[in-house]
Amino acid sequence: MKRILIRNALLVATQDDALGEIPGGDVLIEGPVVRAVGKNLPADGAEIIDATDRVVLPGFINTHHHLYQVLTRNLPAVQDAKLFDWLVYLYDVWKHIRSEDVLAAARVGLGELLLTGCTTVADHHYLVCPGECADPFSAEAQAAEEVGCRLHLTRGSMSLGRSQGGLPPDTVIQDEESILCDSERVVAALHDPAPLSRRRVALAPCSPFSVTPSIMRKVAELARKLGVRLHTHLAETVDEERFCLERFGKRPLAYMEDVGWVGPDVWMAHCVYLDDDEIRRMAETGTGVAHCPVSNLRLGSGIAPVPKMLAAGVPVGLAVDGSASNDSSNMLRELKTALLVHRVGSGVSAMPARAVLRLATRGGARVLGRDDLGRLAPGQAADIAIFDLSGMAYAGAHGDPLAALLFCGIDDRAETVLVHGDVVVRERRLVRLDERRLAHEARAAASALLERAGV
Ligand code: ZN
Repeated sequence: MKRILIRNALLVATQDDALGEIPGGDVLIEGPVVRAVGKNLPADGAEIIDATDRVVLPGFINTHHHLYQVLTRNLPAVQDAKLFDWLVYLYDVWKHIRSEDVLAAARVGLGELLLTGCTTVADHHYLVCPGECADPFSAEAQAAEEVGCRLHLTRGSMSLGRSQGGLPPDTVIQDEESILCDSERVVAALHDPAPLSRRRVALAPCSPFSVTPSIMRKVAELARKLGVRLHTHLAETVDEERFCLERFGKRPLAYMEDVGWVGPDVWMAHCVYLDDDEIRRMAETGTGVAHCPVSNLRLGSGIAPVPKMLAAGVPVGLAVDGSASNDSSNMLRELKTALLVHRVGSGVSAMPARAVLRLATRGGARVLGRDDLGRLAPGQAADIAIFDLSGMAYAGAHGDPLAALLFCGIDDRAETVLVHGDVVVRERRLVRLDERRLAHEARAAASALLERAGV
C-alpha cells in the first residue's frame, strides 16, 4: 500500500481534541487514511513531502455550492441586485443549461476549491430539465472523479412555478412524481454510504419559494426511507421571511418544522434570519447550517448569527455558495471573510481564527454526517491541505502561523492537497487536469449559454 510521510511541518493543526496542534509535526499516510500523527515518525520507505515552513491542515469542507453557476459569474445586469431580483433574472438564463455545461462548470468550480485547500464539496443542483439537462448529477460525479475531490451531491428540485406564486419560471419546475422517481434513481446510481466514501447523495428541494409543502414532506419521507440526508436553503433574506408569512402564515423555520424538515439529518444554507428561540430549536433538533458569508454580503442579505448558533450548540459548517453570488469558489477567502464579518456583527472577539478553522473542518464534517473527515488522526481520511508560509505575505507573522493563514496572505492557493491519500494539487497546480483548458472550455460554454438565453 502506498505510504506518504508529510515531515517537519511548521505546524500540524490536527483539529483533533486529543492531538491538538503539533509544531514540527509529521503525518504518515497509508493508502486512503492517516496512519499516524506525531513527531519524528519513521519514514520506512514512504514518499516524503517536506513541510518545512508549511502549515498542515485537514482539507476544508464546503457544505453548500451551485457549481453550474460558474457559467454565470459576475453578470453585469445583476451585480448589484438583491436575492429575489437576482434569481428572477438568472432563472431565465439558467433554464438553458445543458448537462455538458454542468460538467464544464463543475470541473472549474471543484478545481478552484481544491486549489484553495477544500477537499470535500456539497453541491446543490436543482435545475433538471427533460432532454438536454436530464442528468446533471452524473456530470457532476464525473467532474469530481476527474478533478479528484470528494463530493456530496444533492438532488435538488423545484415544483412551484411563477404561475402558482413561486419564483422560478414554469419551464424549470418538475411534477412531484418526476422529482421523487428521479431522486430515487440518483441515490441508487450515485450514493455510496460506506466509510471513507468519495461520493454521497442527499435530497434537496430548493427553497420555500420554489417548491410546494407537499414535495417538502414527500422528499423528507423518501430521504429517511433511503437513509440519505436532507438539504435546502432557509431564512436567507427578509423577502423570504415575508413570502413565508404571507403564503404559509409562518416564519421560515416554523414552516420547516411543519413539513418534517428538522433533525440531525438536515442541513440548511444561510439561516441569516433566525431569532434566539429559533436558534434554540435548531440546536435542540441538531439541525445543521451551511454558513455562506461572502454570498450573504455580496447579495446584501445580512450577517448570519453564527456566534450565537455556536454558543447554543447548532452544528455549523462553512460554504462558498453558488458561483453567481460569490463569485469564486475560493474556500480560504470564505474563511477569511467569516473571520472578519462577525467582528462587525457581534464584536471583535466573536470569531477567533481557530473557531473559523473549526467551522471549515470539524463543523462541515458534522453537518454532512461524516465522522471520517475534518480531523487529522489515525483512521481518518487522508484529506490534507498544506499551505506554504515561507513567502513575503507571512513574514513577521510566524508567532501564530495557523492564524497567519487567515489574517495574512496575498495568494489563497494551497501548495499541496491530498484527497483519499492521492496528491491532487502539487506546487499550486491541479495534478490531473490542465487549468487553462478547463477555463477555456468553461468560457466557451458560458458564451454559448448566454447566447441561447439572449443576454
Ligand atoms: Zn445556495
